[in-house]
Amino acid sequence: MKIILLGAPGSGKGTMAQKLTNELGIPQISTGDIFRKNLKEETPLGLQIKDIVSGGGLVPDEITIEIVKNRLAEADCANGFILDGFPRSLVQAEALDKFQDIDCAVNLDVSNDVIVARLSGRRFCPDCNGTFHVSTLSDANVCPVCGGKLVIRQDDREETVLERLRIYGETTFPLIDYYARQGKLVTVDGSGGIEVVYRRILEVLPR
Ligand code: AMP
Repeated sequence: MKIILLGAPGSGKGTMAQKLTNELGIPQISTGDIFRKNLKEETPLGLQIKDIVSGGGLVPDEITIEIVKNRLAEADCANGFILDGFPRSLVQAEALDKFQDIDCAVNLDVSNDVIVARLSGRRFCPDCNGTFHVSTLSDANVCPVCGGKLVIRQDDREETVLERLRIYGETTFPLIDYYARQGKLVTVDGSGGIEVVYRRILEVLPR
């Protein structure tokens, strides 16, 4: 199955993509993870996008589309994939339609209050790429999976979050309508606990 996860920053796309990957045995393709890896390794791409990502902006469409196109052409995507964080603009969605036939776009619907609460408590492990919320951690500095030192993502800082939400509303939100018109949109209430939201997704995925 070829699935897109849509939703604002902090709506839970990454968490849900991870669970779906485990259950369906198809890879999670997260453009945010790809960009963070390049930033960490200081590749030419990483250096090129550093200021954009840390300021909460969007990496140019041409760069992002090329990366996703190449990644989806790899063998592990042949039976399907879960796109987490792509597409994020109409240009990206239209480009994707030219090289892939998507089955379903799941829109995680979460209020702004919940998003701000989630992002302000979010902690990231640069060692294993895990994402956690302080409310579930016994020590807010230590990764419960690998013991690495947890950090606040640069783009989760308050002023950057506001910029990301603004860009989401302007550039990514119209995709909801785009996939609705294609008859591929399912909207799921993304508030509540991880398992509750996950069950809601499983109920609406096409069989
Ligand atoms: P995420 O982890 O999905 O929130 O992505 C982190 C950051 O990577 C975003 O704030 C953008 O700067 C960049 N990014 C991720 N996906 C895309 C995309 N599809 N198009 C442009 N920029 C992206």
